[in-house]
Parts: sequence; structure tokens; C-alpha cells
Amino acid sequence: MASPKQFAILVSMGYTRNEIAEMTEKEAWDIISRGKGTTNGNTDASSHKDYVKTINCKNLQELDLEISENLNKICNDDVENSIIIDKNGNVFALKGDKNRVSLSEGVSLDGAVSIHNHVVPHSFSKEDLMVISENLGAEFYLTDTENVYWARGLKKIDKPYNEFYIKALTLIQESKGDTEQPEHYIMEVLKKEGYVDYERYRKGN
Ligand SMILES: [Zn+2]
Repeated sequence: MASPKQFAILVSMGYTRNEIAEMTEKEAWDIISRGKGTTNGNTDASSHKDYVKTINCKNLQELDLEISENLNKICNDDVENSIIIDKNGNVFALKGDKNRVSLSEGVSLDGAVSIHNHVVPHSFSKEDLMVISENLGAEFYLTDTENVYWARGLKKIDKPYNEFYIKALTLIQESKGDTEQPEHYIMEVLKKEGYVDYERYRKGN
């Protein structure tokens, strides 16, 4: 648990209350000392992307293999990873921290496949949704220790996130759903309203 003093510093660095609540005191100090001199913890030098290779993405088998290999590689990691396969088959990878990673990092997502992981299992976040909404047609894969999620934006999200959140809470009540996975139900609401294509696959099923 971060101390009150750490809390104030981390808030000024742009971390949210929920993110800070998940940090141990030591992790909080690590982030503060590493991020010193920057205005946001996100501007860490380690967030630069690496070019990995180029695949033939017209060959769907090769593309599917690349996607599944990457999902397996990152699903148990203790930081977030992002892999982007652009429409020409160029593969880029970058690492974030425990709570975030860039889904594009300067790479065009037009016709691209984006793959990332969450350390604490949950579906696409509010920030992820903004990227999905701004890159209609790109495909987004997400993995954690329990599920693989897939989404594609169909139309731009033109209402506040909170509206979908409230509808998701109703849906959770109606379906006796898992209250610890509100993001999943928000995606279900967005799917019902025609904003996204979305699936969640539980591992081992
Ligand atoms: Zn995410």
C-alpha cells in the first residue's frame, strides 16, 4: 500500500486511484524514483517499440500462428506488453508497466492487429476502448491468465463511458454476472448497441 505522501506524488504523475491502490510501498517508490524528472509515469524510456520481424499477413495461417504465439508469450507476464502487426505484416513489440501499455506507439493501426495483456484479469479498459473507437476495422486481442478477448470497432463511440457502465451494472444484476468483471459487461452492452464486435473466450473451454 502506497503511503499518503507517495499517493500525492503518484497522482501528480498521472496515476489513478485504482492503480495506486494496487501498488506495494516498494513498487510505489520504484515508480517515483524512475519517473523523476518526467511529468507522467508513462513517458518511461522502456515504452519504445522494437521492430521484431515481418510476416506474410495475406497468409491467414501464418497470421493466426503469430497472434496465438504472442498471446501465449504474454498472458502470464507481470507487466503489460503490446504487439502490433501492421497491415503490411510488420511486427512491433513494446513493454509497459503493471497498469498500462501503449496500443499503437506511433504505428498506424489502420488494418492492423493489436495484441496486449492485462496483469489483473479484466476485459478491455476505458483507455483501450478509446483506441478501438478511433481505429475502426483494426482487430484487438487481449489476454490475461483466465481469458482471451477479441474486439473490433464498428462505429465511433459517441456517448460517455459512464452511460455504458450504468447499463453494464444492470446487465450484471439481470444475468447474475461477475461483479468483478464490469469491463466485460460494458463490452457486451457496446456489442448489443452495435458499437463493437466482441467475444470472450475462457481458457480451457
Ligand atoms: Zn488494456
